[in-house]
Amino acid sequence: MPFSLHAYRGRLAPSPTGLLHLGHARTFWIAAQRARAAGGTLLLRNDDLDAVRFRLDFVDAMIEDMRWLGLGWEEPMFSQSQRRPLYRAALEMLHASGLIFPCHRSRRDVLEAASAPHESGSAGLGEAQDEPVYPLSFRPSAGPPLPPLDDPVTCNWRFRVPTGETINFTDGHHGSQQAVAGRDFGDFLVWRKDNTPSYQLACAVDDAALGITEVVRGDDLIKSTFRQILLLRALGTEPPAYYHCPLMLDEHGTRLAKRHDALSLRALREQGKTPKEIIAEF
Ligand code: GLU
Repeated sequence: MPFSLHAYRGRLAPSPTGLLHLGHARTFWIAAQRARAAGGTLLLRNDDLDAVRFRLDFVDAMIEDMRWLGLGWEEPMFSQSQRRPLYRAALEMLHASGLIFPCHRSRRDVLEAASAPHESGSAGLGEAQDEPVYPLSFRPSAGPPLPPLDDPVTCNWRFRVPTGETINFTDGHHGSQQAVAGRDFGDFLVWRKDNTPSYQLACAVDDAALGITEVVRGDDLIKSTFRQILLLRALGTEPPAYYHCPLMLDEHGTRLAKRHDALSLRALREQGKTPKEIIAEF
């Protein structure tokens, strides 16, 4: 087929930090269905930047489990740990545009400041519990020139969000979405002091570099989408389309997590479930 700029390109982006469970399987299945319906292609991206939780055997397991389920993708697989120069180049671009700043505050400083009363009463509004809105008072004034980027990076760097701007996108599943920068989410990490790119930066850079036209993922990442749209804009790229799938819940109404080993694809397969039976439940 001739290469077309508009051909659908999706991606499966598992993190090798545990066994894939039924929730991942459903999201990936939906991603594959959407790519197939559009006559497009699917890539496999290995989100292996979390050096602490990463395990090589989980990479092998996720590939095996996805194949067992009947998922296919274009070879080769892309591993984020091999793509650091790309993320570094993006960081340098953001730095040259004055859009990031070094942050020496601890997580605890941010947590304490975010839980303190806020003038407008909106501190923490809508922010995921594990990531409070970064207080404006911690942001350096735009005046002095930025310090140079160290190589390797030795402090956290954050993206300066356009405070008060409403960011919109239309989600393929959930419809119109909006969030106000600085209220619903604050200045977020793009690079960590252990010299690792953040998920937000790596994901935005990859979606652009790999020519992804639609991102299909769990709806726990809708908040991340607003951040990634800002990053893509800052890097001079149009964002892809987004389709966020509802998360799967267990019998107690808790979202499935990698600790739900009983619902891992591996365990279900060992219990004798077939891919057909699993897919039938989606
Ligand atoms: N690796 C991420 C996760 O498993 C998904 C990232 C994405 O699809 O953008 O949550």
